[in-house]
Amino acid sequence: MKAIVIGGGVIGSSIAYRMSEAGADVTLVESGRVGSGTSSTSYAWVNACEKLTSRAYFELNLAGVKSHRKIADEFKGANWLHRPGVVQWQDAGAEAAGFDEGDFDKLERLTEWGYPAERIDRQTLAELEPDVDLDTFHEDGALYYPEDGWLDGPVYAGAMVLAARQRFGLKLFQGKVVGLLTRNGAAVGVQLANGETLEADFVINSSGRWANEAAGKAEYELPLAPTVGLIAYTASCDTSLRHGLRTPLVNCRPDGAGRILLRANDIDKKVPADANPVPSNVAAQQLLARVKQLMPALEGVQVEAVRTAIRPIPKDGYSAIGPHPALSNYYVTVTHSGVTLAAFIGEGVTAELVHGRDVTEFAEFRLTRFFKD
Ligand SMILES: Cc1cc2nc3c(=O)[nH]c(=O)nc-3n(C[C@H](O)[C@H](O)[C@H](O)COP(=O)(O)OP(=O)(O)OC[C@H]3O[C@@H](n4cnc5c(N)ncnc54)[C@H](O)[C@@H]3O)c2cc1C
Repeated sequence: MKAIVIGGGVIGSSIAYRMSEAGADVTLVESGRVGSGTSSTSYAWVNACEKLTSRAYFELNLAGVKSHRKIADEFKGANWLHRPGVVQWQDAGAEAAGFDEGDFDKLERLTEWGYPAERIDRQTLAELEPDVDLDTFHEDGALYYPEDGWLDGPVYAGAMVLAARQRFGLKLFQGKVVGLLTRNGAAVGVQLANGETLEADFVINSSGRWANEAAGKAEYELPLAPTVGLIAYTASCDTSLRHGLRTPLVNCRPDGAGRILLRANDIDKKVPADANPVPSNVAAQQLLARVKQLMPALEGVQVEAVRTAIRPIPKDGYSAIGPHPALSNYYVTVTHSGVTLAAFIGEGVTAELVHGRDVTEFAEFRLTRFFKD
């Protein structure tokens, strides 16, 4: 089978790797550098514990978590998946400031659904993260996910593409897709911005937030509800931070060599799509002030870099994975939480397109739900 994958983010690179491994003749078309899209600007928490709105969505994400562990085990020296654990809490001060207090039955549900989680107290937090000001901690304690962690998206995507090229003959094509080539109601390739065309039996659109532009025609579009995300990175510093922390003030985690990655949902909601991604950005400075409140030991640390991204989110907030109802041989993967899901989407798309086996975890997330009548 000859396939074209549009987009070399975490998802497209996973598909390209697994399909090539399964014997398909795959061309990955990427307009920029592999891993340079949304996958390079992500909190990248690989988890299912934040996906409790439906059992099907939880199971899909849990499959994602497991699949990442599996593929990291398959690669000698895999350096992209970090699993030191993640701590999550809300504190009384933040509650007073109007933050969402969250669901305190969460531990019960996670335990019932088999997800490693435990409640920890102040003393345990102090042992895990000595720099955290315990006055910012919630009196009811926090949830600790001892097996959770995050992924370096571009490193992972690059490793998938390199391995697929070296081991299985994947072709990486630098170019921008501007539309689909169709014949008799089926996709037969892609049209590139430079006028060239590439042909294949299947086209898989994994270009994330740009999926509709790459599809090129209104009838092949997917309804999206994108949101803006802003991430600030501190300068390298002598921090003792080791875990991912999800707190009412800020979400933060180590980002290598002493840098700390910062973001917050409530701040994101006020960031305009054309925000200037520079250290002086108001949102970035707010994040810095909050992380210093969380960890006063960071006094004197500055923001070194800022990035913004648009989340690729289908209209109802859930993943869109599967054949496009308007065109045969055209398959789409657009989803938030794409870092968590990438490795499993790679496996699943291969199971469906190469081996002809439907993936149960995808069943609730088909594109058909957007195209009824
Ligand atoms: C602030 C923020 C925080 C997040 N936190 C998390 C989290 O904690 N956990 C989690 O799992 N997810 C998280 N996400 C979501 C996650 O990052 C995305 O779902 C994921 O990166 C999407 O990957 P992708 O491969 O679909 O898209 P991308 O990484 O955007 O890849 C698409 C690729 O397609 C290429 N491309 C685009 N158009 C074309 C074209 N016309 N022709 C050829 N190539 C093209 C691009 O250059 C790009 O490389 C977060 C996102 C943001 C913004």
